[in-house]
Amino acid sequence: MNYILMGPPGAGKGTQAKKIVEKFGIVHLSTGDMFREAKKSDEDIRKFLESGQLVPDEIVVNMVKKRLEKDDIKKGFLLDGFPRTVNQAQELDKMLKSENIKIDAVFFIDVHFEEAVKRISGRRVCSCGASYHVNFIPPKVKGKCDVCNGELIQRSDDKENVVKDRLDVYEKQTRPLIDYYKKTGLFVNIDGLKSESEVFEEIKKHIEAK
Ligand code: ADP
Ligand code: ADP
Ligand code: ZN
Repeated sequence: MNYILMGPPGAGKGTQAKKIVEKFGIVHLSTGDMFREAKKSDEDIRKFLESGQLVPDEIVVNMVKKRLEKDDIKKGFLLDGFPRTVNQAQELDKMLKSENIKIDAVFFIDVHFEEAVKRISGRRVCSCGASYHVNFIPPKVKGKCDVCNGELIQRSDDKENVVKDRLDVYEKQTRPLIDYYKKTGLFVNIDGLKSESEVFEEIKKHIEAK
C-alpha cells in the first residue's frame, strides 16, 4: 500500500493524510512537515518556506531518499506534498525502481483557486500537529486545540501576502504533474469540494477496491 496525495495548497491533503494513515496503518511522509521542522535550525529552508517558494529539488529529493531508506516504510506509505515538480517525480521513479517499490495510486484532491484561498486563509494549526479551519472545521473552543488544549496559530506562509505566490508556484511547477501521472494510469481524481468525511470516504473506497 503505497500512495501519493497531490493537490493545490489548502486542498485538504494534510487533513486526509491523517485519516488515511490512521485507518490503514501506513506511514505519513509529509515533506512540508519535514521542512517546517528543518526551518527551525536552517535559515535557507526558512527563507524558501516564508516566501512560498519551493525548496530546490536536489534538497527535497535527498531528504526523501533518506527517509525511504528507513525500515518502517515497508508497512506502506503515503507521500503528502511530494513530488511537486516533474523532475521530483522522475527522481522518485528512479528511487522506487531501484528498491523495487510500486505506487498503487496517485490521489489528486481537486479544489479550485477561490476555495484553496479560503481554506488556506482560515487554517489554524497546533504545535501537536492538529489542524482546523476557523469556519469550516472549527475547534470546540475558539483558538484552542481540541486534542491538547494548545494555542492555535496561523502558519506564517498562510498569511495573505504569501498565499497568492504559493498558488502561482503550484500552477507553474506542480500542475504539470497531473499529466505526468495521468499517463501512468495511477491518477485518481477526487472532488475536494466535498466535506472532510465525504472526501475521505471517496479515497477509502478506492483503496479498499484494490
Ligand atoms: P501546503 O500543503 O499548504 O501546500 P506544505 O506543508 O506541503 O504546504 O509545504 C509547505 C512548504 O514546504 C512549501 O510551500 C515549500 O516551500 C516546501 N515544500 C514542501 N514540499 C515540497 C516539495 N516537494 N518540493 C519543494 N518544496 C516543498
Ligand atoms: P493541505 O495540506 O492540502 O494544504 P489542509 O489539510 O491543511 O490542506 O487543509 C487546508 C484547510 O482547509 C485547513 O484549515 C482544513 O481544516 C480545511 N479543510 C480540509 N478539508 C476540508 C474540507 N473538505 N472542507 C472544508 N475545509 C477543509
Ligand atoms: Zn494540539
